[in-house]
Amino acid sequence: MKTVPLHLLLAQIHHHRRPVLAALGALMLGSGVVAFGVSNPLPDATKWPVRQVVEPAEVPLATAAPTAPDASFLVHQSETTRRDDSLQSLLRRLGVDDRNAQDFLARDATSRLLLVGTPGKLASVTRTPDGRLHGLTVRWVDGNQRVSRLVVQAQDGAYRSRLEQPVPRRLVRFGALTLRSSFYATADQAGIPDAIAAQVVEAFSGDIDFQRDLQRGARFSLVYEAFELDGETLFTGRLLGAEVRNGKDSHQAMWFQEPGQAGEFVSLDGTSQRRAFLASPLAFSRVTSSYGPRIHPVFGVQKDHKGTDYGAPAGTPVRTVADGVVTFAGRQGGYGNYVVIRHPDNAATAYAHLQRIEVRVGQRVQQAQNIGAVGSTGTATGPNLHFEYLVKGQRTNPTRIVGAPSTSAPVVAQVPAFQREAKAMREQLGMAASVAWASAQ
Ligand SMILES: [Zn+2]
Repeated sequence: MKTVPLHLLLAQIHHHRRPVLAALGALMLGSGVVAFGVSNPLPDATKWPVRQVVEPAEVPLATAAPTAPDASFLVHQSETTRRDDSLQSLLRRLGVDDRNAQDFLARDATSRLLLVGTPGKLASVTRTPDGRLHGLTVRWVDGNQRVSRLVVQAQDGAYRSRLEQPVPRRLVRFGALTLRSSFYATADQAGIPDAIAAQVVEAFSGDIDFQRDLQRGARFSLVYEAFELDGETLFTGRLLGAEVRNGKDSHQAMWFQEPGQAGEFVSLDGTSQRRAFLASPLAFSRVTSSYGPRIHPVFGVQKDHKGTDYGAPAGTPVRTVADGVVTFAGRQGGYGNYVVIRHPDNAATAYAHLQRIEVRVGQRVQQAQNIGAVGSTGTATGPNLHFEYLVKGQRTNPTRIVGAPSTSAPVVAQVPAFQREAKAMREQLGMAASVAWASAQ
């Protein structure tokens, strides 16, 4: 397949990248990939589709055939397709002023994919300075993370189009973060996607309350999958391993999946990271009011606060912190929309001021299942989740629930593949610790 000019074209697409990430990329390609190339790839990595060309098409042009201009005079330009784009408006933004090209793109069935489906496709052209189209490449990723690439080229007096399904390359990224602000803000500054940050929170959710426990200077080492095409990261995958050093505390976790089973985060000594209770009912939030005495924000009097308040935007998903059965779901005075879930060992948790409720009385729920959304129903000054922990019916300080091991959590230490993977992960976390992502901030 002669796609060299277009690959060059793609190589010239510049996205906003910080210099630290560019340096990291070099490291990834240099050592990280090799290290992982010889170890067992995770099962997920084998699901990528085989490269195939779906539909070649060739439509000859009647008049004024495009010629291959001198490459030194070609302009490269990229745009993202918009919901209200027409072919004309998109070509105009790309600086293409070419009747033949426009006719071809409008007529050719493959090329019509350019503006079909979800907008936000990356369209890149090579064109002459006066707007004649030499080549067009459009790339998009569907909901199943499958990549498609439409390629249109001027060749031998005609445009030709084809649709490719390139297979992204799986890379493993390493790096360390030192907390200067919240975990999410620090991760964001370092260019770590939210999807990875959320998995870090999940991996340590039984060990650390990310709202309360993290100290400034806490250090995270991360190892995660990224999928890259033409030198650019398209999306990230699984968090493979992580370590946190927080004051005197340190925790390590890795993703482990036995064939035919659901994977989960386990500690490097083979015990599940799953706990009976999640540290927080919200994946990402801040505590606005802790358990204990306080001046009530609405009534203005000293009152014991019998729960923990989490501030979060209205609509933020609320998850049950443990497996259980819903015993109340509905309006309850100042609590507004209120859900109570009964857990084993006479424990219960309650969730107040919900914008909406997504469970009903008697329903079995699993840990981390969404039960509703943050709202401000009942007596509330604004959107927040009032969360309660009850032991034998008594409201108890929710910070006490962290750390209790889950009785259903398996131990994988005896699984032979685990020992091998844990050893490799220790080495990778050691490597990650030596790479600074956000220390420049
Ligand atoms: Zn409250």
